[in-house]
Amino acid sequence: MKTYLLPKDGQFYKANLHMHTVVSDGKMTPAEVKEEYMKRGYSIVAYTDHEALVPHTELTDDKFVAITSYEIATNKGACQGGFPFEQTYHMNLYAKDPNKDLSPVFTMSRLWPAHAGNYMSEEAKAVEWPREYSIESLNALIARANEDGFLVSYNHPNWSLQNYKDYAGLRGVWGVEFYNTGCARAGYPDTMQPIDDLLQQGERVFPLAADDAHAGKDTLHDCFGGFVMVKAEKLAYKTVMEALEKGDFYASSGPAIEELYLEDGVLHLKTSPAAKVEVITERRSRWCRRGEGLTELTFDLSDYIKTSREVSEKRAPSYFRITVTDASGETAQSRAYFEEEWN
Ligand SMILES: [Zn+2]
Ligand SMILES: [Zn+2]
Repeated sequence: MKTYLLPKDGQFYKANLHMHTVVSDGKMTPAEVKEEYMKRGYSIVAYTDHEALVPHTELTDDKFVAITSYEIATNKGACQGGFPFEQTYHMNLYAKDPNKDLSPVFTMSRLWPAHAGNYMSEEAKAVEWPREYSIESLNALIARANEDGFLVSYNHPNWSLQNYKDYAGLRGVWGVEFYNTGCARAGYPDTMQPIDDLLQQGERVFPLAADDAHAGKDTLHDCFGGFVMVKAEKLAYKTVMEALEKGDFYASSGPAIEELYLEDGVLHLKTSPAAKVEVITERRSRWCRRGEGLTELTFDLSDYIKTSREVSEKRAPSYFRITVTDASGETAQSRAYFEEEWN
């Protein structure tokens, strides 16, 4: 029997899950973002302007979904000498309800830039959720956001100058950026390490790749790098959000993962031409295949699978995930697939 890890049915829709517009410090209007991304084959953009939750439902139609979302920053120190802060937590909150324009974890005293407030209602601006730079404070915020129908991502740890001690105790995060185009192009490339660290602690986090673009139409210098391919039955807000929540997607800065299933202990994979394909697990057992233009691969995981339940019960959940690297070094990452999904 085949166990489909990426859904068998439906189609892929390309998404940029991190974007700034004139609502905060970006240069394009929300409509210009839609136009530029649609020209390049995207069907979904999350509008994640800083601090202000502003829906752009007027942009959603049968060819495009505008995800209602925003990005919050929780800084450790003050801005010094024009250079930002010490460490900072940046998180995106993605609303399952497209019309959501009020966030219970909004913090009026942290609104930046001030003009973003022009797009919000007085009721929305009356909220003052307490925020401080600590795991406890962040976990309380994430829990409240989850309860109120938001998926929460943890963004660009490297640019935020964060390391293991900053993110180790995070709970309830849905996704973590391993690729952020703006940060990567500015010299702060992220990695899968925070994702593996959180997975090892039993957190079910998904890898994300996104642009975090601020550019105007004239340069587009931080656009069209990292993206997510969502596999869903149709392009509709609710369907897309459900697929994202379940993890029916992969994230990439280049290569494609076209098919992924397990049959009788053997993992089957179809990709765009790859130079390296790895299967990475929670243990010191990994598989790595190198070549030129690899497109169809199988990995026999049956011995690994036989012992996975024992490991899950004793230690952390057993999982495997797939990394596909192309000839130019760009990668596609599957999410982690957990023991109960395939055993
Ligand atoms: Zn950010
Ligand atoms: Zn951002």
